[in-house]
Order: sequence, then C-alpha cells, then structure tokens
Amino acid sequence: MEIKVDALVLRTADYGESDRMLTLFTLQRGKLSAACKGVRKAGAKLRFAAQPFCFAEYVLAVRGERATVISAANTDGFYGLRGSVEKLYAAASLAGICDALLYDGIVNEALFLYAVDALRTMCEGDEAEALIAFILRALELSGYKADFTACAACGAPVEGRAYYDASGGGFYCAECARGAGVSEGTVQLLRKCAQLPFEQSKIAPDSPKRALKLLYAGLVARAEADVRALGEYIDIL
Ligand SMILES: [Zn+2]
Repeated sequence: MEIKVDALVLRTADYGESDRMLTLFTLQRGKLSAACKGVRKAGAKLRFAAQPFCFAEYVLAVRGERATVISAANTDGFYGLRGSVEKLYAAASLAGICDALLYDGIVNEALFLYAVDALRTMCEGDEAEALIAFILRALELSGYKADFTACAACGAPVEGRAYYDASGGGFYCAECARGAGVSEGTVQLLRKCAQLPFEQSKIAPDSPKRALKLLYAGLVARAEADVRALGEYIDIL
C-alpha cells in the first residue's frame, strides 16, 4: 500500500552502507518510522528528505509495520535554521519535545501545525521566544497547561516575584511560595510568549534561559519528557 503524508523529520539514524531511518511526525498519521534507502550515497535524489527538520510531502510504501520512502516533494527545509548554532539547538529541542510527547500512530494535528509555525518563526526571528511559545502550547495540548496569571493555591494574581512547582505544574504568589523562585522578568517573558499582556521593560537578558529552565523542569516532571537537546540549548544560552 502507498500512502501520501505531510511530514516533518524529527530524528534520523544511519544504518547499513548508505541507508537512513527517519522518525517522521506526520500530519495525517502521527509519528512513524520510515526507511530511506541509499540516501547517503553521493548525489542521492532524496538527500534533502532525510535531513533533520525537513518538511515535505512523502510518499511511503507501507508493508505491515514497515514503511519505506518512495518519493518526497519539499515543502520547507527551514534553511534559515542553519544560520546559527542557537537556532539549530532550538529546532533540535522542538523536534525532541515532539518525539517525547508523541506516541506512534496517534494523530496530533494541532501539535504538528504549532511545530511548523515555530520552526518558521525560528528561521526569521527570535528562536528562544519561538521555542518557549511552542513548549507552552505543547504542554497545554498534553494536558499540562501552565497558568502563570493566578496563584495555584490562593488565586491571587501572580505579580512581581513568583514561585513555580514543577511537579505540581503550578505557579504560586510570594505569600504561598511553593517550589523554586521565579524572577519577574521570567514571568513577563512567559506572558509575552503566551500572547498575554506583558511589560517588555521587565524582561532581562537572562529571562529566556530562566524561562526555558523552568519549562524544561515542567516537561521532565509532568510529561516525563527528558529532551537532551533542550538541556544543551539552555547551556549555550
Ligand atoms: Zn497565593
């Protein structure tokens, strides 16, 4: 059987002499693995389709559990990501988060569209903010929405210095103070990335790093998603 899917390459692994196994996030069928044969040979026609972050329309031959790439038409290679090592790490973090949150064969159209949208933003704009916005959306889709507008214990608005409890996934006011302290700049940056009203003047140069550390802790604690690339990205910020 042949199927046609819109897909994003999340991960690649070389095998054999010139073959590569792709982990694809498809719009129509969720996550699946597909072999891309002969793709590491010089001048291979499908070389582009076996690169990380390639977004293409793939035609796959499916036999039982096995899928093989027959052809691919490029939609977007996100070449702007190659412009800096930070952008590449941010994109690798996004791919790792999708890989960790998705189960094989479960369709998640919203996450797919958010991922493509975030990769486009990373090419052109601020990759840290695009990644933060993506993680907030991914956590929400997985049922772990982080509410940083009201204290999880007393409901008071979260203003100024706040607290975040990764295991409970909640933000707390200074009075209720549960978990680790969160700077005002971090809260304002999270608000910005969630498209809530925010104060730009309070966002500090280290706010992206702090916000990503907090979200990483949330991903590990709540969604059990330990994404190594995200840890590495945070280290170079
Ligand atoms: Zn409170």
